Amino acid sequence: MKPSSTEWISDNGAKARILVVDDDQRLLSSLASLLNGKGYEVTEAQGGRNAYRMLESEAFDLAMVDLRMPDVDGFDVMERLASQQPDCGVIVVSGESSFSSVSRALRRGALDYIRKPFDPEELLATVNGVLGKRSLIRAHEHIRMRLEKSEELHRYIVNSSPDIVFMLDGDGHFCFVNSKIESLLGYQPAELFGRHFRHILDDRDIARGTYALKGPNISADNPRTLEIRLKTRGSRKANRHFEITAFPIDPETWPHSNATSGKHGGREARYYGTARDVTERKEAEAFINFQAYHDLLTRLPNRALFKDRLDLAITHARRSEQKLAVMFLDLDRFKVINDTLGHAMGDRLLQAVTRRLERCLRKGDTLSRFGGDEFTLLLPSIHSHEDARQISKKLIKALRAPFQLGDHEVFVGVSIGIAIYPEAGESMDHLIQNADIAMYHVKARGKDGYRFYSESMSIDTANRLNLERDLRLALERDELRVFYQPQVCSSSNRIVGLEALVRWQHPERGLLYPRDFLPLAEETKLIGKLSECVLDQACRDVGQWIRDGHSDLRLAVNLSPVQVEHPRFVETLMDQIQAHGFPPQNLEIEITENVIMNDLEQISQKLRELAALGVRIAIDDFGTGYSSLNYIHRLPIHTLKVDQSFVKAIRSGEDGACIVNAIVAMAHGLKLEIVAEGVETDEQLAYLKSLGCHQVQGFFYGPARPADVIEKTLGHIPVRAVAF
Ligand code: C2E
Ligand code: MG
Ligand code: MG
Repeated sequence: MKPSSTEWISDNGAKARILVVDDDQRLLSSLASLLNGKGYEVTEAQGGRNAYRMLESEAFDLAMVDLRMPDVDGFDVMERLASQQPDCGVIVVSGESSFSSVSRALRRGALDYIRKPFDPEELLATVNGVLGKRSLIRAHEHIRMRLEKSEELHRYIVNSSPDIVFMLDGDGHFCFVNSKIESLLGYQPAELFGRHFRHILDDRDIARGTYALKGPNISADNPRTLEIRLKTRGSRKANRHFEITAFPIDPETWPHSNATSGKHGGREARYYGTARDVTERKEAEAFINFQAYHDLLTRLPNRALFKDRLDLAITHARRSEQKLAVMFLDLDRFKVINDTLGHAMGDRLLQAVTRRLERCLRKGDTLSRFGGDEFTLLLPSIHSHEDARQISKKLIKALRAPFQLGDHEVFVGVSIGIAIYPEAGESMDHLIQNADIAMYHVKARGKDGYRFYSESMSIDTANRLNLERDLRLALERDELRVFYQPQVCSSSNRIVGLEALVRWQHPERGLLYPRDFLPLAEETKLIGKLSECVLDQACRDVGQWIRDGHSDLRLAVNLSPVQVEHPRFVETLMDQIQAHGFPPQNLEIEITENVIMNDLEQISQKLRELAALGVRIAIDDFGTGYSSLNYIHRLPIHTLKVDQSFVKAIRSGEDGACIVNAIVAMAHGLKLEIVAEGVETDEQLAYLKSLGCHQVQGFFYGPARPADVIEKTLGHIPVRAVAF
């Protein structure tokens, strides 16, 4: 018989299997044939005990059970079914129609109840309905399980991702974040829902992070990627670096973007993103970078970084017409210490030296370890040589105190060569090389000191020997010339003094200026002879003009530190001027502040002696050295010469002008005379006049000139009107 269209097929595709249980064999047979006729696979069990047996060996989709049966009744069968085949549906077919039996049967899980004698049509409809319902429930259950599995799988995929996965709403609030955020940053996903993404951004990256997703043209195919720092919870650990990849969700590819709503405060997901922890890579990069540009022992910048910074500083200095200083430092006794106490101690010493040197520097200065016991220092913006001089002295002083290395107390000195941009070189390599050359000159002259580079230093040894020989010859052959630069009283336009400035009329190289040969003269101790020569000539020239009637004319001579520091300085000087019959009150010696401060006791004694003999004392280049007002006040000083750099600044800006104001006010207060050096313009002159500074010297009134030219300008003629 062909199965009817209503026939139910069980889950595995076979015909539905029905167990029919009744103690009445007649009824059993008629039920079976009715159901068989409809294509079901029917198993008959006469009585409950037989039903038990069937249940042991076969699985059923439906059982039709009589209630009242001897020995094992329908309720027992239903109980057994519930425990052994819970998926099997039950229909009770019984003559029992009391309410209590029906309700008891339904409570035991019966799906329907058919009263005997049954109407075949009604019975078949009930069987059909129950089997259909069973099948629907099973299908639903099956789908639910598949969904659950699929959700589990996706949850697993998302939460096991090595990256943080998140979704944000249109305003940047979290709608979803996977549990990875807990292990990486310490947040519970639940605490972030509804909070703004900004909440976990490092303060330094808030602006970048907040606006990252606002730009145009961002999509899943073209996501926005940015590196950013995220805060760890509780901020005990350092913040970490992440590479974030994010894009707006396209409603076409995921129309259910609001599926995250409800659960998380009704927010609609508008952005999807992942955040990959790149902290280790960042740290490795930072370390590699540090290693490439630093010396690992002292943690100072290395040669490469130093050159980089110097290059930048030169560009800046060139643009802003400023000076800069490069220093080359070499420790004096390092090798001996390293050789005797071993490398470990040597390393500790270098670290200790570094710490002391660093304490002398300002922000913006670069100290680097150049190699071994050599350091270089860049002072990117200095106003004058004096700034560099001050720092060198500080550095030398800082290393003077002994170093404690274990049980050993060691002393190291430092030799410092200084090259100033632009005069000591305009390129990076020149500056470093010339600072190095200057450093060697310090070493050559007994170490532990500093020197500025000058051109005469860089001539090679052969040329140096030539120049030294030439200079000796020059002294013998009388090649040194004294030029005089007028010091003019600006209110009367009269020459009140002349500064003697040495020149060398070199037979081959032409006229040489002090910067070309004075350092060499000092180094070779020829300076004594040279000064003697200059003073002789000046006393002769100016002495003559004084005798000719310019009785107030002052002669200013420059003295080098070597001269002043000589024990017989006062006697030598006095003997010399007396030999020319030069009046001591017409002589003014110019020394720098540093000469005084280097050896205050000795020098002030000498100055007092000279002053007592009538010689005037001027401080040259005043304002650039380090002097204490306290001493100036107590020393027998007559004149302050304001350094050219401050006079130059009158044109360019307030600062220098302020210093001039201060120096002039101070000089007036201390009743000192004041001479402004390097006056070149009307404007500078007018400004100085307005301050009450009337004695000036500079190209405005003319440069230093030979005696015969100057002689013609003496007297009461306005100097400016004279054609030189
Ligand atoms: P100083 O004593 O400060 O001399 C002033 C320097 O400035 C001189 O340079 C002079 O020519 C220059 N000068 C004068 N007016 C102006 C101006 O308006 N603008 C500019 N830009 N420069 C001006 P010079 O002759 O090259 O001397 C340089 C330094 O050499 C002197 O500085 C002095 O310290 C030293 N010196 C010169 N002659 C002797 C000497 O016979 N013995 C010693 N020990 N040192 C000397
Ligand atoms: Mg001078
Ligand atoms: Mg000067």
